[in-house]
Amino acid sequence: MKVDKILGQWYDVNCYCITNDKNECLLVEAGAELEDIKRLVGDKKVVGLLLTHAHFDHALYLREYIEYFKVPVFASKEAEQVLKDSSLNQGDTWKLEEDLPITYLEGDGSSKIGDFDIEYFSTPGHSPCCMCFKIEDILFAGDVLFHSGIGRIDLNGSDKDAMLETLDKLSKITFAKLYSGHGEESDYERQKRNIAVFRRFLNR
Ligand SMILES: [Zn+2]
Repeated sequence: MKVDKILGQWYDVNCYCITNDKNECLLVEAGAELEDIKRLVGDKKVVGLLLTHAHFDHALYLREYIEYFKVPVFASKEAEQVLKDSSLNQGDTWKLEEDLPITYLEGDGSSKIGDFDIEYFSTPGHSPCCMCFKIEDILFAGDVLFHSGIGRIDLNGSDKDAMLETLDKLSKITFAKLYSGHGEESDYERQKRNIAVFRRFLNR
């Protein structure tokens, strides 16, 4: 499995293209311009799109991706409301007016998309709709965990207690690498410390 990354041109969102040995790929986030993603995808077959949460910087080009790639999109069930409410998705005036063909996932579980085995975890706190996806030994954490820190919990829809429960949950999940929605990648050892520090901090 290979992971390529590009940044959205406006908001520095990490967008990932995960490729398997069958030349299938999964996209994570819809925050990079369609032309940039098309270039990154090249001749690979796109089998799905994972949305870690519905904040506008991650979901900005969702409609364009769905129209162009015609692939299933997966997000948490809480994302549906957040996509349609600019006060919850931080989008100022940006929101989705229409119902898009999105598969809304509830709670934790697993799924097979193309030849990819995906585990998903509901991880609210930064936003009620946050979801982390684990593929092989990589955790795609969106804005829940960063290389050095955690996602903001002062936004409309944020919830400190939910973030604490999420950190408890994530402390029990093992992975080798962490790919976040912003900033550089990280690894399990660093995240064990990161999670422990912020659990203590939020528990004060
Ligand atoms: Zn966010």
